[in-house]
Amino acid sequence: MLKAGVIGWPLSHSLSPRLHMHWLKKYGIEGEYVAMPVAPEGLAEALSALRQRKFRGCNLTVPHKEKAVALMDSLDAAAKAIGAVNTIVVMSDGTLAGSNTDAYGFAENLRLHSLPHKRKAVVLGAGGAARAICHALLAEGFAEIALANRTLRKAETLAAHFGPACRVAGWQKRDEALEGASLLVNATSLGMTGNEPLDIDLSALPEDAVVCDIVYVPLETPLLAQAKRRGNPVVDGLGMLIHQAVPGFEAWFGVRPEADAAARAALLEGL
Ligand code: NAP
Repeated sequence: MLKAGVIGWPLSHSLSPRLHMHWLKKYGIEGEYVAMPVAPEGLAEALSALRQRKFRGCNLTVPHKEKAVALMDSLDAAAKAIGAVNTIVVMSDGTLAGSNTDAYGFAENLRLHSLPHKRKAVVLGAGGAARAICHALLAEGFAEIALANRTLRKAETLAAHFGPACRVAGWQKRDEALEGASLLVNATSLGMTGNEPLDIDLSALPEDAVVCDIVYVPLETPLLAQAKRRGNPVVDGLGMLIHQAVPGFEAWFGVRPEADAAARAALLEGL
């Protein structure tokens, strides 16, 4: 039995087990993908136990992605550049190889939704997801990223990390930053069920700009509903979740799974 899973804290609403179990069933693979709730202080122990427990690897989610970097034996280029690991493969010699597929998942999903002109992107947030998204956007050739985050210091740190194409826009000035943008991404947790909605005035956003919310509970966030009403193309957060899971599944279970409508339907059942 091939085994993999996801490590996070808390893990109650992770959709990853549902997605990987859907693919295991679809491809007739004898395997399992389990949820492993692990508190922050238990990460190192949980990772070293993967080998003994005969796991092929795992995904990592909040709050472990950044701390895991120092616990890997090797890192791929994206994990190094982003400073976070979301996918781990236990290699045949027992070493742990860390990668980051969040940037890939974001870019791949956006590409399928007719990537806008690569002029200016506005990214809201400066947490782990925003970091991966900025990396993806620069790799995709966006000329400029305006980054707005509630905590200014975190936006400044991120902008400094990515260089002059990424500049800080004050959180209070997020409405004005939308002028001339071809893409708006919400990478904060605002709009998620149980959190406040994202308070933003879209008047300055060009009508052809794509609006993307990586929050996927609810699937249509207040931001996406607002953008739809004014005619902007919208991209919800489920596609990124599905695409980021593809490389891990392939590495653990030996089949590159399809990020198709059936995978999306399997996740929608869990929402
Ligand atoms: P994180 O590192 O904890 O960052 C959270 C971000 O949200 C920070 O920028 C934070 O600002 C901001 N924020 C939180 N509460 C806020 C408030 N009341 N007002 C303004 N800003 C607020 O989390 P993350 O890993 O980046 O994830 C962010 C969101 O993306 C989560 O909802 C997560 O579920 C979702 N996500 C989705 C996918 C996907 O595949 N679709 C992948 C990863 C993450 P401060 O810096 O000021 O605290």
